[in-house]
Amino acid sequence: MTSVAAHTRPRGWVDNAIRLIEADSRRSADTHLLRYPLPASWSGGVDIALYLKDESTHITGSLKHRLARSLFLYGLCNGWIGEHTTVVEASSGSTAVSEAYFAALLGLPFVAVMTASTSASKVKLIEAQGGRCHFVDEPGEVYTAAQRIAEETGGHYLDQFTNAERATDWRGNNNIAESIYDQMSAERHPIPTWIVVGAGTGGTSATIGRYVRYRRHETKLCVVDPENSAFFPSYAHGRDVVTGAPSRIEGIGRPRVEPSFLPEIVDRMVSVPDAASIAAAHHVSRVLGRRVGPSTGTNVWGAFGLLAEMVATGVGGSVVTLIADSGDRYADTYYNADWLAGHNLNPGEHADALAEFERSCGWVWSGSSTTS
Ligand SMILES: *Cc1c(COP(=O)(O)O)cnc(C)c1O
Repeated sequence: MTSVAAHTRPRGWVDNAIRLIEADSRRSADTHLLRYPLPASWSGGVDIALYLKDESTHITGSLKHRLARSLFLYGLCNGWIGEHTTVVEASSGSTAVSEAYFAALLGLPFVAVMTASTSASKVKLIEAQGGRCHFVDEPGEVYTAAQRIAEETGGHYLDQFTNAERATDWRGNNNIAESIYDQMSAERHPIPTWIVVGAGTGGTSATIGRYVRYRRHETKLCVVDPENSAFFPSYAHGRDVVTGAPSRIEGIGRPRVEPSFLPEIVDRMVSVPDAASIAAAHHVSRVLGRRVGPSTGTNVWGAFGLLAEMVATGVGGSVVTLIADSGDRYADTYYNADWLAGHNLNPGEHADALAEFERSCGWVWSGSSTTS
């Protein structure tokens, strides 16, 4: 009779893998918190400030660098990723690019599962990091296909939409929230009145919402959401809504409510028209002198509305939002007039609202917003 069972596995490879990820972040600097230049004269004496945390400066070009690092560490520390593990994800976008980078860092094979309609430029970006792309026909098939490939190869499905919220250390450890508060600490309004983010996995919003409560900050969290997304109608109606429609704003908006989205800690949601997101992205790109991605436009559209509300009610303070990725990835799409016309997107419709905001801090847009 034996009463001892042991599964002791040598830890040398995992130890070294963790060291490699740690060394990678030590070689990297924190992302900048940029001040957005608001005209000084217009706010009628109300002292407001807008900041953009520039997540495009991560080595892999987007805030998904943080997520990929967290998912790999989570998988390694749970014993799910080892020396011979094929790492799999359902993603055609920035997540796959960042995860391919970490897989290459650890010398592991990486497979990204996506629909056959994915643009060639994105496939190239993933392959340039050493990843392999696997194509399916329908958007709904990507999750089961990723799961199946992981099973067949004895690999690990990272599953960003489930694991984003739990893989990140919400109490600190230099997460995005801790970094924002640290970088704000010597500003005129160090505790932001609002932080504004979009939701793809929902992980970023979960991390910020939890951190704000944990540190007992007064900051409110606003989530901006594009057309077609299930997050806004579900939040507004208090029950899960499935739209089944793909988002047109890359990185945010989902056809179903993802498990990593935590609506209870979101103070307000704003539904932003896709053309308005793109108009705002173009606007910010002109102001900053460099291109930002479309989800940054959604963020800034939401931030402008909140700033206008603060001015209208005479409440000074700061608003923080994100540059989630660079517009350089989208030269052929959101920054291409033919592509926009072909997709029935007319950012010109929203130019007046942005111009009026810059002139008077008035907000002449009255779209959908809802408060918890
Ligand atoms: C993923 C992503 C987001 C949203 O972040 P989540 O933490 O997944 O909710 C926003 N913008 C871009 C460009 C993204 O890739």
